[in-house]
Amino acid sequence: MMGEGYKVSEAVQKVYDRLANESAVKTGIEFLAADHSATVAEQIAINEVAAPPFKENERALFYMAKLQELGLADVQQDDEGNVFGVFRGCGNGPRLFVSAHLDTVFAEATDVTVKERDGKLYAPGIADNARGLAAILAVIRALRSSGVQTVGDIVFGGNVGEEGLGDLRGIKAFFRDNTDIDGYITVDGVKEQIITYLATGSRRYEITYRGPGGHSWNAFGLPSAIHALGRAIAKIGEVRTPSQPKTTFTVGTITGGTSVNSIAADASMLLDLRSASEAELKKLETEVLALLQVAADEENARWGSSAIRVEIKLVGDRPAGEQSPDLPIVQAAWAASEAVAVPPEFGPASSTDANLPMSLGIPAIRLCGGGAEGNNHSLDEWYDPANAYRGPQKIFLTLLGLVGVAGVSEPLLAKRG
Ligand SMILES: [Zn+2]
Repeated sequence: MMGEGYKVSEAVQKVYDRLANESAVKTGIEFLAADHSATVAEQIAINEVAAPPFKENERALFYMAKLQELGLADVQQDDEGNVFGVFRGCGNGPRLFVSAHLDTVFAEATDVTVKERDGKLYAPGIADNARGLAAILAVIRALRSSGVQTVGDIVFGGNVGEEGLGDLRGIKAFFRDNTDIDGYITVDGVKEQIITYLATGSRRYEITYRGPGGHSWNAFGLPSAIHALGRAIAKIGEVRTPSQPKTTFTVGTITGGTSVNSIAADASMLLDLRSASEAELKKLETEVLALLQVAADEENARWGSSAIRVEIKLVGDRPAGEQSPDLPIVQAAWAASEAVAVPPEFGPASSTDANLPMSLGIPAIRLCGGGAEGNNHSLDEWYDPANAYRGPQKIFLTLLGLVGVAGVSEPLLAKRG
């Protein structure tokens, strides 16, 4: 288990001991257990509003109405499609952003109706990320019903564009437009034990070789786009990357050519490069991109030509993030987890909305919505809500420690510059 032997500082522990004994905080924690069925019902309702990639707006508007009903201030939708509102603190505290992604990986025609069997819920997206979205609404309800007065502001929202070629467009736009955020938590995934503070970066490219093309017999002697692509793939296949920090590459798909008896005029591949370290990712990217031109040059040299060209298009860019596990935001999540009797665990580096703020130097973690799941990103996705309220309980308590509670604890999250 990752995080074995990890200990929070005395100062952080003191904050959590105090919070755990505060009656408004206890009321909020109890509320979340009692709210379990309502949270799950809301999760089902959210899931049944489809949110295909780049077409999240119906769900966004549905979610925005919920934020309004819960009485948040300044509820709005930005130009990118994100929806959010503010739970106001009593002033002068840090400003924390908490969001879950609205989008799914599923195409428009997918049936997102939720079916229940033996206590489990079955539907594409029901865990990733209808659970995260519902967990956030439950936490806002708990803040309201407990009457707890925070010091700092908490901005709660649903963001667009996390999955696949969405390429974090929602969270990128949010942090571009809102420069006053001191910390970020994404609620993504379900297993409530997990705290993720490391982010896998990725760079994705569409690479296309182009040439004159021609008849395989009559035009023999012309360079081929497919042969150039093949040379490139062979070179990429020989690249060596470190296992620590884990750094990976793959040519995910290839397309091209016209027919069996044609010299190919075009050939493309989609290339995925990843690393837990931004420096290693850059190094790998530089090495691989240089090989692409070498492959074109070799194909041209083979036929005494200069006709093959390579086009390189960046189609995905998620920065890697390396943070210390001793950051207050990580310690707070750990202590909050222990306080609600959820044995905390650090998750491996992963790729979520938290990547982006981390790369900007803004403390960020991923927490989960609670429960168990299987087959996520597939049509057979399922969710088990047994004891899932412990997810929202952990999030609720993490937030309170970070933004502070008036008369009880100072914020653990620092205001930036
Ligand atoms: Zn997700």
